[in-house]
Amino acid sequence: MSAVRVAILSVGDELVLGQIEDTNASWLARALRGGGALPGERRTIGDDRATLARAMRELAANHTAIIVTGGLGPTLDGLTREALCDLVDGADAALVEDPAGVAHLARWFEARGRPMPSSNLRQALRPPSARLLANPHGTATGLQASPIEGSCEVFCLPGPPNEMRPMFESFVVPAVRSADSVVATAALHTIGLGESSVGELLGELMARGREPSVGTTASDGIVSIRLRAT
Ligand code: AMP
Ligand code: MG
Repeated sequence: MSAVRVAILSVGDELVLGQIEDTNASWLARALRGGGALPGERRTIGDDRATLARAMRELAANHTAIIVTGGLGPTLDGLTREALCDLVDGADAALVEDPAGVAHLARWFEARGRPMPSSNLRQALRPPSARLLANPHGTATGLQASPIEGSCEVFCLPGPPNEMRPMFESFVVPAVRSADSVVATAALHTIGLGESSVGELLGELMARGREPSVGTTASDGIVSIRLRAT
């Protein structure tokens, strides 16, 4: 039994430019492994609709699920909804307003005694074939949908880690958790040997495509042997 392969797609110009750290991707990769799923590919994309739709399409071709974080804000640079719509309903389809999304926004602002800026209504829009994922900690509801072709499931979650993490647990974990697969990792640290010497000692164990996979990393004179078994 092979593990479910999951791609992680981080969205935001600020991530591409290195203005903030992409903590979502590393957190998600660790959390996926913990649930027996295999992080496949990680990508970082700026706030550009066409690039985002293309990345989702490419990742959908060889992953069971894609987790997108970011780009669900109320402002014009939040384009994840539109890109998902291009992928799952086609470029000619228009976003539809979801009454549950509108109700969520109305409750959110009412509970805080603030009028809702009309721009927030963008956050109640979804592709026609997507479903909304409730966000108890923010205004941005998430989205779940499958591309027209293939069997990949796409989950779009808001960027703020305190909103993204509980939504990952509620909606993504049940869908990608595997009862009969485990991803185990281990590291052995060596000192006094160069990376090439360690590689020669390991020989064919490091050949690509082997199970478990064996890789090395080097830092401050320590060469670490990293193992991953599925
Ligand atoms: P967005 O959903 O694109 O409006 O993102 C809202 C906020 O979430 C951003 O301003 C960042 O502070 C944070 N954020 C978005 N993506 C990430 C990420 N990959 N890692 C950490 N924080 C993020
Ligand atoms: Mg953003």
